[in-house]
Amino acid sequence: MLDRDHLDDLGKAEVFAVLRGGRAVARRIAVDELVVAAHLADLYDAASMTGLPSMLPIVSERLVTLGGVGTPQVSEFAATELGHHLACGPDAAAALLADALDLRHRLPGLWERLLEGEVDAWRARVVAQETRRLPLEAAEWVDARLGETRRSITGVIGQLVADALRRFDPETFAQREAERLDGRGVFLERPGPAGTGLTTRVAMVLDTPDAAVLDATLDDLATIHAVLGDESPLQVRRAKAVGTLTNPQLAMDLLAGDLTTHATTKTTGSEARKGVRGRSAVVYLHLDACDVANLVADGTDGGGSIERLGPATLDLLGEWLSRPGGIARDGITLRPVLETTRADTVDSRTPPAWMREQVILRDRTCVFPDCTRDARSADLDHIEPYVPVDQGSPPGQTRPDNLAPLCRRHHRLKTWTGWTYRRDGWDTDSRPLYEWLDRHGNPALPRHLLEPADS
Ligand SMILES: [Zn+2]
Repeated sequence: MLDRDHLDDLGKAEVFAVLRGGRAVARRIAVDELVVAAHLADLYDAASMTGLPSMLPIVSERLVTLGGVGTPQVSEFAATELGHHLACGPDAAAALLADALDLRHRLPGLWERLLEGEVDAWRARVVAQETRRLPLEAAEWVDARLGETRRSITGVIGQLVADALRRFDPETFAQREAERLDGRGVFLERPGPAGTGLTTRVAMVLDTPDAAVLDATLDDLATIHAVLGDESPLQVRRAKAVGTLTNPQLAMDLLAGDLTTHATTKTTGSEARKGVRGRSAVVYLHLDACDVANLVADGTDGGGSIERLGPATLDLLGEWLSRPGGIARDGITLRPVLETTRADTVDSRTPPAWMREQVILRDRTCVFPDCTRDARSADLDHIEPYVPVDQGSPPGQTRPDNLAPLCRRHHRLKTWTGWTYRRDGWDTDSRPLYEWLDRHGNPALPRHLLEPADS
């Protein structure tokens, strides 16, 4: 416990020790709360109920199910009484009981790690809540996957739950997918108080290919507007481009480079189209060849996944791929991704396109601990620093094995401050793991790996 009267005596090292110690105690208390809640649920089981036939005009004590399928029922009064003692509402108390029961009965591996102090209570509770609506066997499948991964459980849980549903309850998975697509729409916010009606906020929920094409088209029109003399910032020009799209003929003329009637400056069509990306939007689909084969053979829809978005039914992906004008039109490329393990090497510093693509697909994000910057916008770093050819470089320095994506911030940190890293095995989802050392040689752990609590 902090001695507040002697705060001024503490140096940096003591301050960090106090803070770390406090965090360790808080973590232990949060785990104990779950353990005690699970025990309390046992004390409120069917045998504990009064069992008196109701002589009153109200129904007698009932059992309720708080957790997911496979968890025991408890008396309806458990949450009310617990809430009173924790000074929280009955709903928060019911949530604590439900999380504790789900962890103990549906996620035994995670429960074990919780008791061992390897997992934060709040992370375990997130998993309990995310998996609650899954069938029992699907929750157990998620539990087993979580036991294998060395990544943050809260980082991977969303994708795992979607995958579990796709595997164990494809009907519900397809139904939820359809519900999400039914949620598409374009919404205009109501005008606010007088004086703020100059602009109107518009929200759109589109499917991903449409959104990608819209985004690229707005960029192209914004570029054309700039060439035609519009000096507004990019986002303002994108907003104006939405206005342009409401006049389809004008939009088509501009995008086709026919600017004779629209130019405010003396600009030719070809000049105006400089810098225009050609409305190329790419959505990456990850398909497992076995899943496609199963669909063809017996109609089993094992689904696929959309890069950065998660799993989808093959039905939906097929609809996107065959959308009229979809792939063929200038607008969008749906690029099926086949896992590749090509291992050729090159001697130049810059990797060829196929190698860059392979490394991006493999690592997906910057590989610094907890960094989530997209690998597509990252630099490809040589893990063993590249030695120029004229300085006697060994051959084949540029190879997938020796490359990893680093966002600019972490690339600079590694290049200028002496932080180092090396590849340290592979995770269960075929993504490499990395071990980082800070400039003093201390391991830099991801946030979810808890320091052992001081005894
Ligand atoms: Zn980064």
